[in-house]
Amino acid sequence: MERTLTGSPASPGIVVGPVHLLRWEVPEVANAIVRDEGIPAEIARFHAAVEKSRERLAHVRDRVAASAGPEEAAIFDVQRSMLEDAELLKNVETFIRQNLAAEKAFDLVMLEWRQHFARHAQPMVRERVGDLTDVHIRVLTVLMELPDHDPVELPKGAGAIIVTHDLTPSLTVQLDREAIAAIATDAGTRTSHVAILARSLGLPAVVGLRDATERLTSGEVVVLDGSSGQLLLKPTQAEIDAFRRRAQREARDEAELLREAAAEAVTEDGERVTLRANVDLPEEAEHAASSGAEGVGLMRTEFLVVGRATMPDEEEQYRAYARVVSAFGGRPVVIRTFDIGGDKLPVGGFPSEANPFLGWRAIRMCLDQPELFKVQLRALLRAALHGDVRLMLPLIVSVEEVREARALMVEAALELAARGVPHAPTLPLGVMVETPAAAVAVDTLVGDVAFLSVGTNDLVQYTLAVDRGNANLAQRYTPLHPAVLRLIRRTVEVGGQHGLDVSVCGEMASQPLMAFALVGLGVRTLSVAPRSVPLVKRIVRSISAAIAREAAEAAMGAQTAAAAEQQLRQRLFAAVGDAPWLNAGLPGVSGSDTIRG
Ligand code: PEP
Ligand code: MG
Repeated sequence: MERTLTGSPASPGIVVGPVHLLRWEVPEVANAIVRDEGIPAEIARFHAAVEKSRERLAHVRDRVAASAGPEEAAIFDVQRSMLEDAELLKNVETFIRQNLAAEKAFDLVMLEWRQHFARHAQPMVRERVGDLTDVHIRVLTVLMELPDHDPVELPKGAGAIIVTHDLTPSLTVQLDREAIAAIATDAGTRTSHVAILARSLGLPAVVGLRDATERLTSGEVVVLDGSSGQLLLKPTQAEIDAFRRRAQREARDEAELLREAAAEAVTEDGERVTLRANVDLPEEAEHAASSGAEGVGLMRTEFLVVGRATMPDEEEQYRAYARVVSAFGGRPVVIRTFDIGGDKLPVGGFPSEANPFLGWRAIRMCLDQPELFKVQLRALLRAALHGDVRLMLPLIVSVEEVREARALMVEAALELAARGVPHAPTLPLGVMVETPAAAVAVDTLVGDVAFLSVGTNDLVQYTLAVDRGNANLAQRYTPLHPAVLRLIRRTVEVGGQHGLDVSVCGEMASQPLMAFALVGLGVRTLSVAPRSVPLVKRIVRSISAAIAREAAEAAMGAQTAAAAEQQLRQRLFAAVGDAPWLNAGLPGVSGSDTIRG
């Protein structure tokens, strides 16, 4: 049997540990009946199971409240209240009185309720389907005496590798980081948000394994290598030892890179590059600041929202932003307004859509709900008193969106003034260039914005019509495609002509070969995951901008992504030789494991 499972590398690091199979699915319930004389006992058994599920939920709520905070924990109160619903309990009893076993009776009622909720006219009700499903799973698990797979019920220090079909952001934020050492999923790619979040949390991860949940069983020990995107099954002691040695070596290399964290990112021929950090959670701010980042190039504020029953209020948002801004002591902090939707799970109240990546998301949702958007704008204007806050709008396709957002920022400032709350009068307003529309028509945007930041994760997906989260398309997701390179080049040129800073904050910027290409294309600000900052700094310091330019020119002339990659590889290898960092971080782009020429 093949012992290696290969997926996409999502977050680096090597972990040897036991598998914890997370099957958070409604179990199959067989038909079963009870005799008339057994009905009272069956009803009692049902109520006992509900009671036990409620106790478990209370326990889970307390754990999540302690580790993630009361807002994240509130979702479990909602689920507990569902189990108190008199109508639900009565409906199940009615079925049991018709001789159905408790499992079947409960299963039927829950299926009916989930359908009813899913079709409800009120989006708020539709959004509760996920909670009903959780409740469905919990009670059946008790009634059927199945092993409890609760994602938040692992013992601390277990060092477990969570193996699951797909980990939604909301499930990810519930995980107890003290019990979990790594994540492996059947679905996903390295730019899907579970991968981004895993990198933020510093959890090694492999995604897109396709059938890992079929191939693995809970408790078996495997090796997960987040850099190569592989899982090794049934490892021998010699293999485990070899992996541990490699892990130690990688840790040493990383520590060495970190020692240069304070150095300036200047190319060999004297071109200065600004390196900033992508921050997804406020708790990361201090670590990001110590990685040598010169500010924050992208704070993804939607992670304040995912997995929550309600939007965070102005005060909570203000505290989160102020924490990040303060950690960077006056250096620029680019905060992106809510990019909710797409694969970033909506919170309660937002409908699910047939085509979410092209749907009502990001700036569209914010502009359509000014009262919700202004809460964020007010929090940002207040946080700006602690440092240099810049505001960035996601998914922009036209200048009207920028103008509308600016008008709302002015309103937000007036509202704060009326309340007598101290705040900055205004903020520099920039946009993400992450749609082909924004890149092609970037000349129509430059007069209204203070900066541009290329979001290659989405730009690649929209330009190539390749879903960034679809594991089956991972090989077709090629940032070096001629169309993508031309859009980046155009953005840099037009932005530069207008004296605007043009940065790149997509994952592309953190890969050695890509960083080389971007410097060659004229990008002078890169924003990457905090952990990648020292590595990208080392790359910049090891290359010459002139050679990078020549390489980018050659890549621009290539007919295919593979040919462009080859052009870049050859020149980078000729320039830096066998540098140890060449293959560090995550592998190349078109499925290749090394970037040697
Ligand atoms: C991007 O699209 O490149 C980006 C940086 O934003 P996100 O990954 O959050 O969509
Ligand atoms: Mg994006």
